[in-house]
Amino acid sequence: MAKAIGVIVSERISAGLVVDHKLVGAMQRFPDDHDEIDGLVELHTEGLVQKICEEVVEAALGGKDIEAVGVALPGLVKEGVVEESPNLPQLKGARMKDMLTAQLRSHGMEAAVTIVNDADAMAAGLASAHGKLDCMIRVWTLGAGIGYGRYPFAPGVWEGGHSVVTLDEKERYCGCGGRGHLEGIMGHRAMRLRFLDMEPEEVFEAAKKGDPRCLEFKRLWHNALAAATATSVHMSGPSKIYLTGVNIHFLDLPMLKNYMRELVKMSPLQSYSLEVVEDLPETRVIGAAISAEQAAAR
Ligand SMILES: [Zn+2]
Repeated sequence: MAKAIGVIVSERISAGLVVDHKLVGAMQRFPDDHDEIDGLVELHTEGLVQKICEEVVEAALGGKDIEAVGVALPGLVKEGVVEESPNLPQLKGARMKDMLTAQLRSHGMEAAVTIVNDADAMAAGLASAHGKLDCMIRVWTLGAGIGYGRYPFAPGVWEGGHSVVTLDEKERYCGCGGRGHLEGIMGHRAMRLRFLDMEPEEVFEAAKKGDPRCLEFKRLWHNALAAATATSVHMSGPSKIYLTGVNIHFLDLPMLKNYMRELVKMSPLQSYSLEVVEDLPETRVIGAAISAEQAAAR
């Protein structure tokens, strides 16, 4: 039986033991207390590595026979090094794979460590949950930023959240500083910058009541997602596209489908399907473990 540990690092660290693609026992969480939720940003890299290691050891339930450990992080990860991480900036340049491997070894654990992007972990978890480990799937995560995950793993950058969806000079709200990006329209942070007087919830509420400025934005929001999704379909082909994240409740699926129909006209490419799914931490933990197992086998 393949034993692996999946870890996700976002506002908190969550870790779980995954045996044959199923979570065994309860997930470990740090910090437990919701009040300490900003704690991770203040931890320096060594401290964070140590915390992750502690959670992994706890999640292993005393077992030393863990084959693989997968750690999912927000940001651009390449060969175990964090190249960019806007939400955990202290990790930029950190050789996470080497640091964690050494730290785990000092706890008597000789596991193959893999660092993955959190959106890709979500994609692997969804592929497993939906019986699609033999297929190509994609997932958009709508939150503070816009995550684009794909499964199976393929070398590349895949920063789909920064897809250019408009050439409008005024579209400059993306956190990366780029113009016309999907995240600059759909990201929570970007929406707050655009509507300084309204929270995103209020904007979508007002759109329902017919407020012209908010309705126009709601259409732009959906059209931007349709544009980036259509580009993905034109580049990687049709197949399944999942939609999830804390802001998924803003999504009007029929509106998105209507825009998609206008953007994808080649009939062999029209077999894509869109599905809204819940954003469960368990899915990401399982996905991180599966990514690590697959990386260890390569
Ligand atoms: Zn951007």
